[in-house]
Amino acid sequence: MTTVYEDSADSFQKFSLTCDRIKATPSKLEKIRILSEYLVGLKDDKDLKIAVTFLSGRVFPPGEVEQETNVGYSTLWIVISKITNSKDTELSRYYRKYGDLGSALEDLISEKITKAKNSGQLQFSQTLFQKSLTMSHVYNCFLDLSKSTGSGSQSRKQQILSGLFSNITVPSEAKYIVKVLTNEMRIGLVEGLVEESVARAFSKTLPEVRMANLIVANSGMVAVLARNGKLSEAKLLPLRPTNYMLADTAETAESLFLKFKNSPMYSEYKYDGIRAQVHVDSGQVKIFSRNLADITSFFPELEAGTKMIREKNSFILDGEIIAYRGKPLSFQLLQRRLRKISRSNNDAPIKYLAFDLLYSNGSALIQEALGDRVQALRKLTLPEPVMGFSEQRLVSSAQEISDMFVESKNLGYEGLVVKDRFSPYTPGRRGSNWVKLKKELDTLDVVIVACEYGHGKRAGVISDYTFAVSDGSQLKVVGKAYSGLSDEEIANMTEIMKSLTIQDQGYRRIVKPQVVLEVAFDAIQISNRHDSGYALRFPRIKRIRDDKSVKEIDSLDKVKRIYEGQRVRV
Ligand code: AMP
Repeated sequence: MTTVYEDSADSFQKFSLTCDRIKATPSKLEKIRILSEYLVGLKDDKDLKIAVTFLSGRVFPPGEVEQETNVGYSTLWIVISKITNSKDTELSRYYRKYGDLGSALEDLISEKITKAKNSGQLQFSQTLFQKSLTMSHVYNCFLDLSKSTGSGSQSRKQQILSGLFSNITVPSEAKYIVKVLTNEMRIGLVEGLVEESVARAFSKTLPEVRMANLIVANSGMVAVLARNGKLSEAKLLPLRPTNYMLADTAETAESLFLKFKNSPMYSEYKYDGIRAQVHVDSGQVKIFSRNLADITSFFPELEAGTKMIREKNSFILDGEIIAYRGKPLSFQLLQRRLRKISRSNNDAPIKYLAFDLLYSNGSALIQEALGDRVQALRKLTLPEPVMGFSEQRLVSSAQEISDMFVESKNLGYEGLVVKDRFSPYTPGRRGSNWVKLKKELDTLDVVIVACEYGHGKRAGVISDYTFAVSDGSQLKVVGKAYSGLSDEEIANMTEIMKSLTIQDQGYRRIVKPQVVLEVAFDAIQISNRHDSGYALRFPRIKRIRDDKSVKEIDSLDKVKRIYEGQRVRV
């Protein structure tokens, strides 16, 4: 047996064992100490960047790689069964023990090794312990996964993964390969602790590191800049995504008005689409989604339209893409574009409504007052009909806000976003400088945790979805929805649910919590049917929130707040 234990700080083995140590301690201070020592020990900047990116729960730094790896549970399941020579039932048993595939794999490998040793058959471990993995080798394999598209890509992906798994030196490495790929690190290391560790490792203050991270949205890059004393270079630049400024919520026009210290304020329609940054630099265009994925290729007409803006050589716009033809169309049409079901502007036309200008010809504008940014924005000539400015007016009373809210709803929009005209743009922060007003009873963003086949004409498709909200690190079920999706969406969802299946119970499937839904409902009631203690009354799916991750779903606290806020308890 060739066992190569590379004791280098930059090996993937060291990364994995460090993650295990971080997970094992409940103390935040100890986690920071372990991680900062590890980061200091990394010799190569490239490896430092990769390690911090993985630790932040990402496979790639935002904006640097066009395609995700697109490795789902089903692909991993096949590869794991093959390399560990396990049956489905055996793998399911291990999976159920941990609820995460990475830990299941680690345990499975460890047991197989023990068994092989005990029986004198070292065949299994021989294939495992060959040569040790470096951080950059793992990263490059992930890049290869993201590049494998089109026909034959599934078997290519399986080959890459098998290659990776067969080169591990300790079972823990296999676990973290899976955890990084499935975005399930779960080692008790929230982004804040990674930032604290970077600050401590390279003798910087936490606010410096945090600010840099909010602006460049790339914690790996920030770590490298911090180590090299170049944090001041963490600047907003076109073609590199930044975090979005977020809005607070108000329940009524009155309470919204009272949140502002400066009047008049800007009031804008709240468009029901997807948030997008449009970046331009010397003719090159990139469009980023809310979770900072590169979505340029989904909207070729927007890319082409952006190139027609002649006033500036480089700029960054913030705005919303909506489905639109003379009037707003259903959000479902936009989703056809995002799923590449439809690529053309003919059957799923879109419009980009710009509401902010973050960068212009070599200067970041985020520190400037909104009024000045908007003035600069409105000097651009945006190509109609694919681009336009958001509807925006100065308002100075709750009555004006209420009137504009009704107007916005009547036109088919969602409500209003009201903004302080003196406020800077604060990436990644939800504050009271932007406040949204939606409708009386809110919607909830939830995640699907289980699903069932339908009945009657929906017998062959998965059309019933059980969904949950977050409660700390747990998920709590609040309801089951049957309505709101079109037949086409249900057909598509059936495939997605199959690929996310963790446990197949025949008519019902437990699925990996990944698909986020926005659900509307009539009321919330107390119920012992679900483990949350609450149930939504008449839930209906408003839309599938492809743009949101499970980290962004609503909390049980919000459910409680809405319940308590209902005037008539059901
Ligand atoms: P929510 O997704 O409910 O938290 O609402 C905030 C979202 O509203 C933002 O992230 C944008 O995607 C969207 N939005 C629509 N219109 C506007 C607008 N005029 N200004 C700011 N955000 C807007």
